Amino acid sequence: MILTAPAGAAHNARPYLYSGAEAALAEALRSGRYNHSAVTDEFENAAAGFLGVPDTVAVASGTAALHVALLAAGVGPGHEVIVPSFTFCATVQAVLATGARPRFIEINPATLCVEPAEVLGALTSHTRAILPVLYGGRAVDLTAARPALDEHGVTVVEDAAHAFGSYEGTRRVGATGALTCFSFGPIKNLTCGQGGMVVPRTPLEADTCRRLRGLGIVESAAWRAEATTYTVDGFGMRVQMSSLNAAIGLVQLQHFAEAEAKRRDLWRAYAAALDGIHDVALVDVDVDRSVPHLCAVRVLRDRERVFRTLREHGIGVGTHYPPNHTQPAFAEWHRPLPVTERVGQQAMTLPFHQHLTEADVDRVAGELRRALTAGAAR
Ligand SMILES: *Cc1c(COP(=O)(O)O)cnc(C)c1O
Repeated sequence: MILTAPAGAAHNARPYLYSGAEAALAEALRSGRYNHSAVTDEFENAAAGFLGVPDTVAVASGTAALHVALLAAGVGPGHEVIVPSFTFCATVQAVLATGARPRFIEINPATLCVEPAEVLGALTSHTRAILPVLYGGRAVDLTAARPALDEHGVTVVEDAAHAFGSYEGTRRVGATGALTCFSFGPIKNLTCGQGGMVVPRTPLEADTCRRLRGLGIVESAAWRAEATTYTVDGFGMRVQMSSLNAAIGLVQLQHFAEAEAKRRDLWRAYAAALDGIHDVALVDVDVDRSVPHLCAVRVLRDRERVFRTLREHGIGVGTHYPPNHTQPAFAEWHRPLPVTERVGQQAMTLPFHQHLTEADVDRVAGELRRALTAGAAR
């Protein structure tokens, strides 16, 4: 572990870097090849092996992964993309980047994930994709909606920014037939410093994603060897993953079994410590199958006061997400979403990262219990 600054419960989230990352980064720096390099290929192959898929495409961020995946799925102007309002704004911005419109839907308040019935209710003749968000790491099973989605030609593009390593049934998320997007940002389950990844469904889709991430240039052997000529085959952006980030990600992936175990243990410790606290509902991440990205609760009364009290006691709580349909940028697509609005006022994330100890968890739970009791006594 190479991040030595004070950690503990003061931080809501914090990267955890394994010791090999420093040497790997130094070596990548010395190579002089900072764009795509053999290290990027190695990271893509290692991630594919880990997920149990034929191929992966590494990109600069989770947001870029969503943008590339939506374009690869043929999403563009005139189309609608179904998306939960309760997500990071990046999900919605990726939709806008394609020229399509977001169609906001509700979530299940127990899981903060979308349900098949809500998805089906939002389908129109313009729908081109549905973007389920795997909140907290929990897989979203849309099997019940599949026949209708297939019939309408709707692609499932998973925002699995929270869910690297989680399972849906017996397969890792990414290996279940959806077009899946991961984020490898600083605080995600696997970090590259910054980064993201698309898991394409076919070799053709993989090819499309590679051109979209790299200025439309055909990634031939000559291109890889940095030959003087290249072919530009169509539209493309400059969102490849830097080899510097890939070098970090490769080391982090080698240690993922430790990360996975630690995150599950921490989440279970929270579940035990929060048990019996009134007016606090733990958001269910399906911990046996998930690699938890966070620990979110719904505070059923006085969230603002509880939040402030915890912050005053040095506990790094967070409130997310402000529902996107209430954001000025997305006002055009506002519709009433009462469940999401209520959850937006209740949701609070507790400190959750791999520097935490079980003693930290107990302290957080104790302070939360005290904050609620103090309020009730008034
Ligand atoms: C982090 C995140 C993203 C975006 O990933 P970046 O790597 O930060 O671009 C998208 N959606 C969700 C739900 C996220 O948490």
